[in-house]
Amino acid sequence: MAMAVAETISNGGELVVEAGTGVGKTYAYLVPVLLSGQRALVSTATKALQDQLFSRDIPKLIDALNLPIRVALLKGRGSYLCTLRLSQARQSHDASLRIHMHALSKIETWAQSTRTGDLSELTGLDDRSPVIPLVTSTRDNCLGSPCPNFKSCHVNLARKEAMSADVVVINHHLFFADLNVRETGMAELLPSVQAVVFDEAHQLNEIGINFLGRHLSTSQLLELTRDTLGAGVQWARGLVDWTLICSVMEKSIRDLRLTAQNSRPGSRLRWTEPVPDGMETSEWLLAMSQLQVALQAAQAALDTVSEMAPDFVRLHERVTLQLRLIQDFQDPCAEGSVRWVEVGAQMRLVESPLDISSAVQTHMLQKQVNEHTQAPAPGSQKAWIFTSATLGEDDQMRWFTEPCGLSESRKLRVASPFDYANMAAVYVPPGMPKPNDITHTRQVSSWVEKHARQLGGRTLVLTTTLNAMRQIGEALTAALGQSGELEILVQGQGPKRRLMERFREGSNEGGLGCILVASASFWEGFDVPGDALQLVVIDKLPFPPPNDPLVEARSQRLELLGKSSFSDYSLPEAAVALKQGAGRLIRSETDQGILVVCDPRLTGMAYGRRLLACLPPMQRIHTEVEFEESLTRLTKTSTRP
Ligand code: SF4
Repeated sequence: MAMAVAETISNGGELVVEAGTGVGKTYAYLVPVLLSGQRALVSTATKALQDQLFSRDIPKLIDALNLPIRVALLKGRGSYLCTLRLSQARQSHDASLRIHMHALSKIETWAQSTRTGDLSELTGLDDRSPVIPLVTSTRDNCLGSPCPNFKSCHVNLARKEAMSADVVVINHHLFFADLNVRETGMAELLPSVQAVVFDEAHQLNEIGINFLGRHLSTSQLLELTRDTLGAGVQWARGLVDWTLICSVMEKSIRDLRLTAQNSRPGSRLRWTEPVPDGMETSEWLLAMSQLQVALQAAQAALDTVSEMAPDFVRLHERVTLQLRLIQDFQDPCAEGSVRWVEVGAQMRLVESPLDISSAVQTHMLQKQVNEHTQAPAPGSQKAWIFTSATLGEDDQMRWFTEPCGLSESRKLRVASPFDYANMAAVYVPPGMPKPNDITHTRQVSSWVEKHARQLGGRTLVLTTTLNAMRQIGEALTAALGQSGELEILVQGQGPKRRLMERFREGSNEGGLGCILVASASFWEGFDVPGDALQLVVIDKLPFPPPNDPLVEARSQRLELLGKSSFSDYSLPEAAVALKQGAGRLIRSETDQGILVVCDPRLTGMAYGRRLLACLPPMQRIHTEVEFEESLTRLTKTSTRP
């Protein structure tokens, strides 16, 4: 892998590498990047992984290789303290902020000493804390160069540091956000780098489409209303009736949200006709036009005072942008895109491309060509490296390369060095009902209860739906948790980081053994080496939900092209997700464990063979007796009490 990366950096072009667990893919791309002496961007999926690369992996290698390389970390603006908003929040008379004053004063103390302003330095601050939006800026509310704190602004300083570094560590969200709106500096950085590496590249497509589409959300509109009222009262009190303008805006936003009051929170409403499914046509059209009128009134008011403060200029731009979006959502959907409405506490109108292939081709891989010959200019080709432990089920890794527009790229698969045949096994319990049987979830719970008790916890239950997660979590808590036999951890009970730490701890130091019941976000990126995890139970084969508007649109496109939406889309999606879930089991050379899939389709249907083939080469367990014996062996070989 390292040789292939080095060749790609010197020759340019695209390389896609699937590197199984334990290959050491991070070093396999970092070493050639650092040795190349070229300017490089390294992008990964999450801020936590960014921190790990920046603070642990890269410094270790720079030290070992003894290279004079400057490295910078660049995150999205939401990760940095905005000193202006912090002081505004501290001075605000808004009664609703009173409960946050203690947290704000702690941030203020830290603000005196931080060099980077990166909020991840504040250990006590949870990612989901409501204080974070109060002390960070958004593209909408940042004042930019007219800001009185502009010179010492952490967002700008991070950006400057990135511009002068040799290697910059970013994340995929930032990459696509900037590709779309060119805001945080990554887009300016891109032309000057010779190599771009995407680690955890399997997430690129889903992250990318989120940023490449159009979004209109009632929460963003409400924030705009609040900011307009705040600035109006502060800078132009009495010149315009801000209270009236903003209350009309607010009412029209709430009326728009109310059009979906009969829809289940969390649902995505298909929107292929002029009006989204489940909406009353006249109500929807009226709500959209009233919102438009309310924003036009705000736009006109802001126009009259734009000279009075920089805030008004920015607010005018924001209102204009929202008005354009409202108009866009009344026009037909763009070709190759799909629309839906997301219903939650707030409402989000989304228009999304089906994949990122055209963005990759037009914004990323453009090659500089000789004007006359149209041949690539020598030395002008950037190197693009995409890597992950899971990129598909076939050697062409079509699951990844097709939606990312990388079918023509060089491809390499490096298998995991772990001895799966001796250390791991896969088992489909006979007698488990079909996944659509109403007793299925109950039977999964009983099965886990029995066997996790025998193993003393050390079990991760991965569900395909939040509903099943809640039901299994409740059943196990009632059966094992309340009596104090085992500790039952359920996703959402607390911050993900804390749940992961507790689970890794297991029964160490006299603690209780743990079962963790989780859904989507734990299927990948959850690393438990050692014997705190020996049993991974998957409730159902993870097919994409067929009623989801995006899934439906992707399937329809394939059918129109004469392909099979099941074979060419649903099955590869399930294969990759299954591979990721199974990947939680063996994380080091000495790990041992069993993967249990409580879905009889894996052994009973012809396509089950295709899914089994994409799992690492584990032994197969066929009967409950064999399983019990394996479990006993695991219990005996475990180093924990
Ligand atoms: S420039 Fe923007 S982010 Fe920086 S301090 Fe000012 S408002 Fe905050």
